[in-house]
Amino acid sequence: MTMPYAPVMPSPIAGGLPALAPHTDHLLTVGIDVGGTKTAYVVTDADDRVLLHDVVPTDTTRLAGQLGDLIRDAVARCSTDGGDRVAAVGVAVPGHVEPDSGTIRLAVNLGGNGDGSAMRLGPMLAESVGLPCYVEHDVRAAASWIESSGTDTDVPLDLAYLSVGTGISAGIVLNGRVLRGANGLAGEVGHVSADPDDGRCACGLIGCLEHVTAGPAIARMAREAVASGRKSTLGPNATPTDVFRAAEAGDPLAAELAVIVAERLARAVRSLVLTLGVSYVVIGGGVASAGEALLRPVLEAIGRERAASPLVEAAFADTRVVILSPTVEAGARGVAAIARRRVLADRREGVGER
Ligand SMILES: [Zn+2]
Repeated sequence: MTMPYAPVMPSPIAGGLPALAPHTDHLLTVGIDVGGTKTAYVVTDADDRVLLHDVVPTDTTRLAGQLGDLIRDAVARCSTDGGDRVAAVGVAVPGHVEPDSGTIRLAVNLGGNGDGSAMRLGPMLAESVGLPCYVEHDVRAAASWIESSGTDTDVPLDLAYLSVGTGISAGIVLNGRVLRGANGLAGEVGHVSADPDDGRCACGLIGCLEHVTAGPAIARMAREAVASGRKSTLGPNATPTDVFRAAEAGDPLAAELAVIVAERLARAVRSLVLTLGVSYVVIGGGVASAGEALLRPVLEAIGRERAASPLVEAAFADTRVVILSPTVEAGARGVAAIARRRVLADRREGVGER
């Protein structure tokens, strides 16, 4: 079985602030990807060049306040004498997102709204910073960016982007269109059952994939195993990346945990491939910082499923499973591109003209 490593991905963006290259529309957009742990923000131009990139810890106690501060900071740092200016802002968040109204609900990893009450994040930010602010689902924004940057032809990729970070969710693109679902929750595979005997997820159910397999669950498993006296090179504060790297280095406890996580992720990948028929599955999110050390056990687990089942083998025959480093900032760049498209469309339609 050969599965190439990250064939559709451009190389990770460099840090720092490159010189602004001249571009015809001089229209820059801020893209912010709000995760349960970290918030990444970029400023990009019409060619998806990253002019500014920064990552800060997410402050869930003052989400809108922190986002307003980040936007003002990004705008100030990217203003130039040559006329380049930030024209719009895109914010990518987890949960139930209504892009038309800029409303978010059920973002259980952002410290609130678990009761289903709505937060009008887009209008609140627009009022606060004086720029059009568009809101999109984080993983759908990333999937849309991967689809648009991963193909050199007019043939759209059918892909699922499985984000494994503080939470787990999939962004799905079929025939060039991001799948939202009639309920707005298409792709929330973090809340399908992975282990019905395990604990209660933030969503209210027992044994959700996210609760037993996302970054905090991997760290929890390692901590509990070390505390129980298992011999290991892992410390009490091992991160998911530490676990996968220690597994590669031959630590037996880490290898055991890596196989448990990889088999659960392999089942999620199989579900996506069997349900949607996608030809690419891209694994990303904070846990993908482990790179090959995560991808390898997942591919091995998928390989065992393929060997055991001709049906699964047929389903995966033309499917590539790759990993995307979180430093690429697909979510932030994706939502910056979405903000660009939407502000240009709004201008054409005269929306918001004074
Ligand atoms: Zn759940």
